[in-house]
Amino acid sequence: MTETCKYFVPGPTWVRPEIRQELARPMIGHRSPEFREMFSRINADLKPLFDTKQDTFVITASGTGVMQAALENCVARRVLVTTCGAFSERWYSIAESLGYEVDRLDAGWGKAIDAEELGDHLARHQRAHYDAVTITHNETSTGVTNDVARLAQVVREEAPDALVLVDAVSSLGGIPVKFDEWNLDVCLASVQKCIGLPPGVTVVATSKNALDRAQKHPYRGTYFDFIRYKEKADEGSVPSTPSLPHFYALAAQLEHIVRGEGLEARFERHRRMRELTREQTAKFAKPAGDPQYASSTVTALQPTLSAEKIRSEMKARGYTLGGGYGEWKDTTFRIGHMGDMPVEDLQAMLNVLAEVAQG
Ligand code: PLP
Repeated sequence: MTETCKYFVPGPTWVRPEIRQELARPMIGHRSPEFREMFSRINADLKPLFDTKQDTFVITASGTGVMQAALENCVARRVLVTTCGAFSERWYSIAESLGYEVDRLDAGWGKAIDAEELGDHLARHQRAHYDAVTITHNETSTGVTNDVARLAQVVREEAPDALVLVDAVSSLGGIPVKFDEWNLDVCLASVQKCIGLPPGVTVVATSKNALDRAQKHPYRGTYFDFIRYKEKADEGSVPSTPSLPHFYALAAQLEHIVRGEGLEARFERHRRMRELTREQTAKFAKPAGDPQYASSTVTALQPTLSAEKIRSEMKARGYTLGGGYGEWKDTTFRIGHMGDMPVEDLQAMLNVLAEVAQG
Protein backbone atom coordinates (compact mmCIF):
# COMPACT_ATOMS: atom_id res chain seq x y z
CA MET A 1 0.00 0.00 0.00
CA THR A 2 1.42 3.43 -0.84
CA GLU A 3 1.77 5.88 2.01
CA THR A 4 -0.13 9.17 1.80
CA CYS A 5 1.17 12.44 3.18
CA LYS A 6 -0.97 13.91 5.95
CA TYR A 7 1.69 16.21 7.29
CA PHE A 8 1.42 19.83 6.12
CA VAL A 9 3.85 21.60 8.42
CA PRO A 10 6.35 23.95 6.69
CA GLY A 11 9.25 21.74 7.74
CA PRO A 12 10.30 19.21 8.62
CA THR A 13 8.37 17.77 5.70
CA TRP A 14 7.17 14.28 4.84
CA VAL A 15 10.01 11.91 3.88
CA ARG A 16 9.31 9.22 1.28
CA PRO A 17 9.57 5.63 2.63
CA GLU A 18 12.36 4.71 0.16
CA ILE A 19 14.43 7.61 1.45
CA ARG A 20 13.81 6.60 5.07
CA GLN A 21 15.36 3.24 4.21
CA GLU A 22 18.57 4.92 3.00
CA LEU A 23 19.08 6.20 6.53
CA ALA A 24 19.45 2.66 7.86
CA ARG A 25 22.36 1.58 5.65
CA PRO A 26 25.60 0.31 7.28
CA MET A 27 28.33 2.84 8.11
CA ILE A 28 31.40 3.50 5.95
CA GLY A 29 34.48 5.57 6.81
CA HIS A 30 34.33 9.18 5.69
CA ARG A 31 37.89 8.87 4.36
CA SER A 32 37.12 5.73 2.35
CA PRO A 33 36.90 5.42 -1.46
CA GLU A 34 33.18 4.55 -1.08
CA PHE A 35 32.57 7.84 0.68
CA ARG A 36 34.57 9.77 -1.94
CA GLU A 37 32.44 8.26 -4.70
CA MET A 38 29.18 9.17 -2.93
CA PHE A 39 30.54 12.65 -2.09
CA SER A 40 31.36 13.34 -5.73
CA ARG A 41 27.84 12.31 -6.83
CA ILE A 42 26.29 14.57 -4.19
CA ASN A 43 28.45 17.52 -5.19
CA ALA A 44 27.73 17.05 -8.89
CA ASP A 45 23.97 17.09 -8.18
CA LEU A 46 24.14 20.10 -5.89
CA LYS A 47 25.40 22.21 -8.82
CA PRO A 48 22.08 22.17 -10.75
CA LEU A 49 20.13 22.56 -7.50
CA PHE A 50 21.90 25.87 -6.81
CA ASP A 51 22.42 26.52 -10.52
CA THR A 52 26.10 27.12 -9.92
CA LYS A 53 29.54 26.06 -11.09
CA GLN A 54 31.10 27.24 -7.83
CA ASP A 55 31.83 25.40 -4.58
CA THR A 56 29.10 23.56 -2.70
CA PHE A 57 29.39 21.87 0.70
CA VAL A 58 27.27 19.70 2.96
CA ILE A 59 27.58 20.65 6.62
CA THR A 60 26.32 18.50 9.47
CA ALA A 61 24.25 21.10 11.28
CA SER A 62 20.79 22.60 10.92
CA GLY A 63 20.31 25.75 8.84
CA THR A 64 20.78 28.07 11.81
CA GLY A 65 24.31 26.70 12.25
CA VAL A 66 25.19 27.55 8.67
CA MET A 67 23.62 31.02 8.96
CA GLN A 68 26.08 31.53 11.80
CA ALA A 69 28.84 30.03 9.61
CA ALA A 70 28.05 32.45 6.79
CA LEU A 71 28.41 35.41 9.15
CA GLU A 72 31.55 34.09 10.86
CA ASN A 73 33.27 33.48 7.54
CA CYS A 74 32.16 36.63 5.72
CA VAL A 75 31.73 39.44 8.25
CA ALA A 76 34.50 41.15 10.17
CA ARG A 77 32.67 44.18 11.50
CA ARG A 78 29.36 45.29 10.10
CA VAL A 79 26.36 43.69 8.45
CA LEU A 80 22.99 44.83 7.11
CA VAL A 81 20.12 42.44 7.85
CA THR A 82 16.90 42.72 5.82
CA THR A 83 13.89 41.58 7.86
CA CYS A 84 10.26 40.72 7.08
CA GLY A 85 9.38 37.97 9.57
CA ALA A 86 10.74 35.56 12.16
CA PHE A 87 13.45 33.82 10.16
CA SER A 88 14.92 36.92 8.60
CA GLU A 89 15.08 38.29 12.16
CA ARG A 90 17.13 35.24 13.10
CA TRP A 91 20.01 36.66 11.03
CA TYR A 92 19.81 39.73 13.24
CA SER A 93 20.01 37.86 16.52
CA ILE A 94 22.87 35.64 15.34
CA ALA A 95 24.83 38.67 14.09
CA GLU A 96 24.26 40.48 17.39
CA SER A 97 25.36 37.43 19.38
CA LEU A 98 28.62 37.39 17.42
CA GLY A 99 29.32 40.98 18.46
CA TYR A 100 28.99 42.59 15.02
CA GLU A 101 27.60 46.04 14.36
CA VAL A 102 24.22 45.17 12.91
CA ASP A 103 21.88 47.44 10.97
CA ARG A 104 18.38 46.42 10.00
CA LEU A 105 16.14 47.24 7.07
CA ASP A 106 12.68 46.11 8.13
CA ALA A 107 9.81 45.66 5.68
CA GLY A 108 7.34 44.58 8.39
CA TRP A 109 5.78 41.14 8.90
CA GLY A 110 4.12 39.78 5.78
CA LYS A 111 5.74 42.28 3.41
CA ALA A 112 8.53 41.62 0.92
CA ILE A 113 11.80 43.56 1.05
CA ASP A 114 11.47 46.52 -1.30
CA ALA A 115 14.36 46.87 -3.75
CA GLU A 116 14.11 50.66 -3.86
CA GLU A 117 14.17 50.96 -0.08
CA LEU A 118 17.20 48.69 0.03
CA GLY A 119 18.91 50.80 -2.63
CA ASP A 120 18.10 54.03 -0.74
CA HIS A 121 19.34 52.58 2.53
CA LEU A 122 22.63 51.46 0.98
CA ALA A 123 23.09 54.80 -0.79
CA ARG A 124 22.46 56.71 2.47
CA HIS A 125 24.82 54.46 4.46
CA GLN A 126 27.77 54.40 2.05
CA ARG A 127 30.09 55.02 4.95
CA ALA A 128 28.79 52.03 6.88
CA HIS A 129 30.99 49.85 4.65
CA TYR A 130 28.90 46.76 5.15
CA ASP A 131 30.82 43.50 4.91
CA ALA A 132 27.62 41.72 3.96
CA VAL A 133 23.87 42.03 3.45
CA THR A 134 21.57 39.15 4.47
CA ILE A 135 18.45 38.21 2.51
CA THR A 136 15.86 35.56 3.32
CA HIS A 137 14.61 34.09 0.06
CA ASN A 138 11.42 32.56 1.42
CA GLU A 139 10.16 33.86 4.78
CA THR A 140 8.59 30.71 6.21
CA SER A 141 6.79 32.53 9.02
CA THR A 142 4.70 34.65 6.64
CA GLY A 143 4.68 32.77 3.31
CA VAL A 144 6.42 35.55 1.39
CA THR A 145 9.11 35.01 -1.27
CA ASN A 146 11.57 37.84 -1.73
CA ASP A 147 12.89 38.76 -5.17
CA VAL A 148 16.48 37.78 -4.45
CA ALA A 149 17.64 38.38 -8.03
CA ARG A 150 16.59 42.04 -7.85
CA LEU A 151 17.73 42.60 -4.27
CA ALA A 152 21.17 41.11 -4.93
CA GLN A 153 21.50 43.32 -8.01
CA VAL A 154 20.76 46.40 -5.88
CA VAL A 155 23.47 45.38 -3.40
CA ARG A 156 25.94 44.95 -6.26
CA GLU A 157 25.12 48.42 -7.57
CA GLU A 158 25.06 50.34 -4.29
CA ALA A 159 27.52 48.42 -2.10
CA PRO A 160 29.81 46.45 -4.41
CA ASP A 161 32.08 45.31 -1.58
CA ALA A 162 29.28 43.79 0.48
CA LEU A 163 28.78 40.05 0.16
CA VAL A 164 25.24 38.76 -0.37
CA LEU A 165 24.28 36.03 2.11
CA VAL A 166 21.04 34.21 1.33
CA ASP A 167 18.89 31.90 3.42
CA ALA A 168 17.14 29.57 0.97
CA VAL A 169 16.05 27.15 3.71
CA SER A 170 12.42 26.92 2.60
CA SER A 171 12.96 27.57 -1.12
CA LEU A 172 15.87 25.49 -2.44
CA GLY A 173 14.45 22.55 -4.36
CA GLY A 174 10.95 24.09 -4.48
CA ILE A 175 11.52 27.56 -5.96
CA PRO A 176 14.28 28.34 -8.51
CA VAL A 177 17.58 29.59 -7.05
CA LYS A 178 20.20 30.86 -9.51
CA PHE A 179 23.34 31.28 -7.48
CA ASP A 180 25.69 32.31 -10.31
CA GLU A 181 23.25 34.37 -12.37
CA TRP A 182 22.05 36.28 -9.30
CA ASN A 183 25.63 36.87 -8.19
CA LEU A 184 25.20 35.48 -4.67
CA ASP A 185 28.07 34.82 -2.25
CA VAL A 186 26.63 32.35 0.24
CA CYS A 187 23.33 30.50 -0.15
CA LEU A 188 22.27 27.86 2.35
CA ALA A 189 19.39 25.47 2.89
CA SER A 190 18.72 22.85 5.50
CA VAL A 191 17.39 19.67 3.93
CA GLN A 192 14.16 19.14 5.90
CA LYS A 193 12.05 21.49 3.76
CA CYS A 194 11.80 21.38 -0.04
CA ILE A 195 14.58 18.80 -0.35
CA GLY A 196 12.42 16.32 1.57
CA LEU A 197 14.91 14.74 3.98
CA PRO A 198 14.95 14.47 7.78
CA PRO A 199 16.62 17.45 9.51
CA GLY A 200 20.33 17.24 10.31
CA VAL A 201 22.46 18.58 7.45
CA THR A 202 22.60 21.82 5.48
CA VAL A 203 23.74 22.37 1.90
CA VAL A 204 25.52 25.58 0.99
CA ALA A 205 27.00 27.24 -2.10
CA THR A 206 29.86 29.72 -1.74
CA SER A 207 31.36 32.18 -4.21
CA LYS A 208 35.06 32.79 -4.78
CA ASN A 209 34.63 36.20 -3.13
CA ALA A 210 33.13 34.59 -0.03
CA LEU A 211 36.03 32.14 0.25
CA ASP A 212 38.58 34.93 -0.33
CA ARG A 213 36.90 36.92 2.44
CA ALA A 214 36.95 33.91 4.78
CA GLN A 215 40.64 33.35 4.07
CA LYS A 216 41.36 36.85 5.38
CA HIS A 217 39.57 36.27 8.70
CA PRO A 218 41.97 34.83 11.26
CA TYR A 219 39.25 34.07 13.84
CA ARG A 220 36.54 32.34 11.88
CA GLY A 221 36.29 29.34 14.22
CA THR A 222 36.95 25.70 13.43
CA TYR A 223 33.78 23.67 12.94
CA PHE A 224 32.21 26.01 10.40
CA ASP A 225 35.38 27.17 8.67
CA PHE A 226 34.54 27.33 4.95
CA ILE A 227 38.23 27.11 4.04
CA ARG A 228 38.56 23.73 5.78
CA TYR A 229 35.40 22.62 3.96
CA LYS A 230 36.92 23.71 0.66
CA GLU A 231 40.27 21.99 1.30
CA LYS A 232 38.61 18.75 2.35
CA ALA A 233 36.07 18.88 -0.48
CA ASP A 234 38.94 19.08 -2.95
CA GLU A 235 40.09 15.72 -1.47
CA GLY A 236 36.55 14.29 -1.72
CA SER A 237 35.64 14.50 1.95
CA VAL A 238 34.59 16.73 4.85
CA PRO A 239 36.57 18.15 7.80
CA SER A 240 34.97 16.08 10.60
CA THR A 241 32.74 13.01 10.92
CA PRO A 242 29.53 13.79 9.01
CA SER A 243 26.03 12.42 9.57
CA LEU A 244 26.54 9.49 7.20
CA PRO A 245 22.87 8.45 7.15
CA HIS A 246 22.04 11.90 5.81
CA PHE A 247 24.70 11.60 3.13
CA TYR A 248 23.18 8.31 1.91
CA ALA A 249 19.72 9.84 1.89
CA LEU A 250 20.92 13.07 0.24
CA ALA A 251 22.66 11.17 -2.57
CA ALA A 252 19.47 9.20 -3.30
CA GLN A 253 17.20 12.23 -2.98
CA LEU A 254 19.32 14.44 -5.27
CA GLU A 255 19.28 11.67 -7.85
CA HIS A 256 15.47 11.75 -7.63
CA ILE A 257 15.22 15.57 -7.72
CA VAL A 258 17.66 16.14 -10.58
CA ARG A 259 17.09 13.08 -12.79
CA GLY A 260 13.87 11.51 -11.48
CA GLU A 261 11.25 14.23 -11.09
CA GLY A 262 13.48 16.92 -12.67
CA LEU A 263 13.92 20.44 -11.33
CA GLU A 264 11.49 22.21 -13.68
CA ALA A 265 8.72 19.71 -12.95
CA ARG A 266 9.41 20.05 -9.24
CA PHE A 267 9.15 23.86 -9.36
CA GLU A 268 5.94 23.57 -11.38
CA ARG A 269 4.44 21.12 -8.85
CA HIS A 270 5.20 23.62 -6.08
CA ARG A 271 3.56 26.45 -8.05
CA ARG A 272 0.47 24.30 -8.58
CA MET A 273 0.31 23.53 -4.87
CA ARG A 274 0.42 27.26 -4.09
CA GLU A 275 -2.40 27.99 -6.55
CA LEU A 276 -4.58 25.14 -5.27
CA THR A 277 -4.07 26.27 -1.69
CA ARG A 278 -4.91 29.88 -2.47
CA GLU A 279 -7.98 29.08 -4.57
CA GLN A 280 -9.46 26.57 -2.19
CA THR A 281 -8.98 28.50 1.04
CA ALA A 282 -10.27 31.84 -0.32
CA LYS A 283 -13.81 31.30 1.04
CA PHE A 284 -12.76 31.01 4.68
CA ALA A 285 -9.35 32.66 5.04
CA LYS A 286 -7.29 35.46 3.59
CA PRO A 287 -3.58 35.24 2.89
CA ALA A 288 -1.65 36.77 5.78
CA GLY A 289 1.37 37.72 3.66
CA ASP A 290 1.46 40.04 0.63
CA PRO A 291 -0.29 37.99 -2.11
CA GLN A 292 1.94 39.56 -4.76
CA TYR A 293 4.87 37.68 -3.24
CA ALA A 294 2.96 34.50 -2.34
CA SER A 295 5.32 31.62 -1.70
CA SER A 296 5.14 28.37 -3.67
CA THR A 297 6.14 26.37 -0.60
CA VAL A 298 4.15 27.72 2.35
CA THR A 299 0.92 29.69 2.81
CA ALA A 300 0.11 31.61 6.01
CA LEU A 301 -3.64 32.10 6.38
CA GLN A 302 -5.82 34.31 8.54
CA PRO A 303 -9.10 32.38 8.89
CA THR A 304 -12.52 33.73 9.85
CA LEU A 305 -12.90 31.00 12.51
CA SER A 306 -10.25 30.41 15.21
CA ALA A 307 -6.93 29.26 13.74
CA GLU A 308 -6.28 27.05 16.76
CA LYS A 309 -9.68 25.38 16.51
CA ILE A 310 -9.18 24.65 12.81
CA ARG A 311 -5.82 23.04 13.50
CA SER A 312 -7.11 20.89 16.32
CA GLU A 313 -10.13 19.73 14.32
CA MET A 314 -7.85 18.87 11.39
CA LYS A 315 -5.61 16.98 13.79
CA ALA A 316 -8.60 14.96 14.97
CA ARG A 317 -9.11 13.99 11.31
CA GLY A 318 -5.49 12.89 10.97
CA TYR A 319 -4.05 16.02 9.33
CA THR A 320 -1.25 18.09 10.86
CA LEU A 321 -1.10 21.77 9.80
CA GLY A 322 1.49 24.35 10.83
CA GLY A 323 0.76 26.85 13.57
CA GLY A 324 1.11 30.61 13.31
CA TYR A 325 4.54 31.94 14.08
CA GLY A 326 5.82 34.71 16.34
CA GLU A 327 3.69 37.87 16.11
CA TRP A 328 1.09 35.94 14.12
CA LYS A 329 0.85 32.94 16.44
CA ASP A 330 -2.77 33.35 17.51
CA THR A 331 -4.33 34.73 14.35
CA THR A 332 -2.90 32.55 11.60
CA PHE A 333 -2.09 28.98 10.66
CA ARG A 334 0.27 27.77 7.97
CA ILE A 335 0.04 25.12 5.29
CA GLY A 336 3.37 23.73 4.19
CA HIS A 337 3.14 22.53 0.59
CA MET A 338 6.71 21.61 -0.11
CA GLY A 339 9.14 18.75 -0.60
CA ASP A 340 7.91 15.47 -2.05
CA MET A 341 4.26 16.04 -1.24
CA PRO A 342 2.02 14.67 -4.02
CA VAL A 343 -0.52 17.24 -5.32
CA GLU A 344 -3.33 14.69 -4.79
CA ASP A 345 -2.49 14.46 -1.08
CA LEU A 346 -2.65 18.25 -0.76
CA GLN A 347 -5.99 18.21 -2.57
CA ALA A 348 -7.35 15.54 -0.21
CA MET A 349 -6.36 17.67 2.77
CA LEU A 350 -7.85 20.85 1.26
CA ASN A 351 -11.20 19.06 0.81
CA VAL A 352 -11.31 18.23 4.51
CA LEU A 353 -10.07 21.70 5.48
CA ALA A 354 -12.91 23.34 3.52
CA GLU A 355 -15.45 21.40 5.63
CA VAL A 356 -13.70 22.14 8.91
CA ALA A 357 -12.93 25.82 8.35
CA GLN A 358 -16.39 26.81 7.15
CA GLY A 359 -17.94 25.53 10.38
N1 PLP B 1 15.44 30.04 7.81
C1 PLP B 1 14.20 29.73 7.43
C2 PLP B 1 13.58 30.52 6.31
C3 PLP B 1 13.51 28.71 8.07
O1 PLP B 1 12.27 28.39 7.68
C4 PLP B 1 14.13 28.00 9.12
C5 PLP B 1 13.44 26.93 9.83
O2 PLP B 1 12.25 26.75 9.75
C6 PLP B 1 15.44 28.35 9.47
C7 PLP B 1 16.06 29.38 8.80
C8 PLP B 1 16.16 27.63 10.53
O3 PLP B 1 16.60 26.40 10.00
P1 PLP B 1 16.95 25.20 10.95
O4 PLP B 1 15.71 24.88 11.74
O5 PLP B 1 17.35 24.12 9.97
O6 PLP B 1 18.06 25.63 11.83
